[in-house]
Amino acid sequence: MKLLLHACCGPCSLEPVRLLQAAGHDIAIYYANSNIAPREEYAHRLATLEDWAKSEGIPVIEGPYDPATWEEAAGRIGDAALADVQAARRETQSATGEDASLRADVLSVDPARREARCRACYRLRLEETARVAAERGFDGIGTTLSVSPYQYTQVIEQEVRRAAKREGIEGVFEDFRPYYDEATRRSRALEMYRQNYCGCRISDEEAAAERAERKAQRAAAKQAERAEHAAEIAAAEAELKQHRAARAAYDKKQARKRAILKSLREQAKQEVSE
Ligand code: SF4
Repeated sequence: MKLLLHACCGPCSLEPVRLLQAAGHDIAIYYANSNIAPREEYAHRLATLEDWAKSEGIPVIEGPYDPATWEEAAGRIGDAALADVQAARRETQSATGEDASLRADVLSVDPARREARCRACYRLRLEETARVAAERGFDGIGTTLSVSPYQYTQVIEQEVRRAAKREGIEGVFEDFRPYYDEATRRSRALEMYRQNYCGCRISDEEAAAERAERKAQRAAAKQAERAEHAAEIAAAEAELKQHRAARAAYDKKQARKRAILKSLREQAKQEVSE
């Protein structure tokens, strides 16, 4: 089938393209990612994708970069969810006087509301992909998004099929997650740029918060390990001290015995000489 494959970046395209080509599809890539912020990051991911696709002879079509439309579709959902967390925190803070960080707020957002934001984000990009596919005579659309274990796979499937149906074309969905490790290995071997957040400004905050949390957990584990060893060392030192004290008492006793024996011997010698 003549397939327009929505791609989020180069590393995520490697395995889906290989597998879809092996299945007989004739592929062109569509880069529709108004979610990515900032613009420099968008451009960096596109350049990485284009370099690789050129080496493979796969055409890449760039969609319009329109962050304002993404904000309207998905960003506002994310902001509303965060605003609710912050409002709840402010209430708790005034009651308890406790402090909490923006980082903690980001990670406290209701998972269902995060999913709603991502669904809106997928919908925007996949509807655009389907519209362009229909205009340019493609038979169907697919996406590379489902290679990532950090995405909502089921939601992606629903949105691929929904977007394709709206345009009267095929929605080709495959769960590529089993190939994620291979995609990671290949992208490293190719020295491709690999980003550390999904794409939008909110995911950038989330990824930073998760990294900070992991770092704090590692530091706490290290400290606990150190404390555990400190207790072991203190116990060993106490045992040694006890052993030394017992040894000193024994030595003192032996010295006293030797002194008594010596004095008895000297006394006996004196008696003989008299
Ligand atoms: S986390 Fe990823 S999928 Fe979800 S809204 Fe942000 S860019 Fe879109």
